[in-house]
Amino acid sequence: MTDEKIILVTGASRGIGRAIALRLARPGAVLLLNHYDPEPAAAEQTLEEVQARGANGKILYFNVAEFQETQARVEEILKEFGRVDVLVNNAGITRDTLLMRMKEADWDLVLQVNLKGVFNCTQAILRSMIKNRSGKIVNITSVVGAIGNAGQANYAASKAGVIGFTKSVAKEAAGRGINVNAVAPGFIDTEMTAVLSEAVRQEFLKSIPLGRSGRPEEVAELVAFLVSEASEYITGQVIHINGGLYM
Ligand code: NAP
Repeated sequence: MTDEKIILVTGASRGIGRAIALRLARPGAVLLLNHYDPEPAAAEQTLEEVQARGANGKILYFNVAEFQETQARVEEILKEFGRVDVLVNNAGITRDTLLMRMKEADWDLVLQVNLKGVFNCTQAILRSMIKNRSGKIVNITSVVGAIGNAGQANYAASKAGVIGFTKSVAKEAAGRGINVNAVAPGFIDTEMTAVLSEAVRQEFLKSIPLGRSGRPEEVAELVAFLVSEASEYITGQVIHINGGLYM
């Protein structure tokens, strides 16, 4: 079995996931970069940058929302690498609209990707972590999962679900040397927030005491701490990173 550190980041082609992958990329690490857009350019760019940092990398094209597809891809990974040391459940989507206008399909899709996706990936990988009696899992939730947001009932419900999931799995896995935590970003500049109107953006900025949006690299720094040996005594926590938007 390889003595490299095997790290799987879901939704690693862009935004926060890419920043996390790059922050964790170093010689001796293997970055498994999941994404789901059939257009591979963004994922390939992440892979190139991961390799430029001296890490090994591999693109894993699969839909985290699909149970069997996820199981199959994870089985292949486990055959090839023997284990996964670090899992960052980052893939996520929005389908924003007021509840009274929300289509059933918008509810289902957001819950399937953001919440069931975390279940699918975690369950597929946890067995191998339990066998190794070590592992670090970080789930990317959102400030919205803690405080709610008009127009995001589906997204907020999915992210609140991730918080409950994180705490439950932390309790189940703690005895096996596995740490499970959640990171809850506030308003971070990525393609996800780029679609918001300038008016909504200004409204958000007014409610952030530090007076600015966050950068994906700032979230990645926190994730790097949570998957490092320096955080061995932290589990089941939701760490907020939001410029003071929620205290
Ligand atoms: P983003 O720029 O839109 O990137 C989303 C990533 O998820 C992409 O790599 C995308 O890959 C991947 N993805 C989407 N659906 C997928 C699926 N079904 N299976 C596998 N991968 C999938 O978003 P972001 O802003 O970086 O957000 C990353 C995470 O942080 C999300 O969980 C989001 O909810 C959370 N978050 C973001 C903010 C913010 O302000 N940006 C705040 C709080 C929390 P493809 O393009 O290849 O599909």
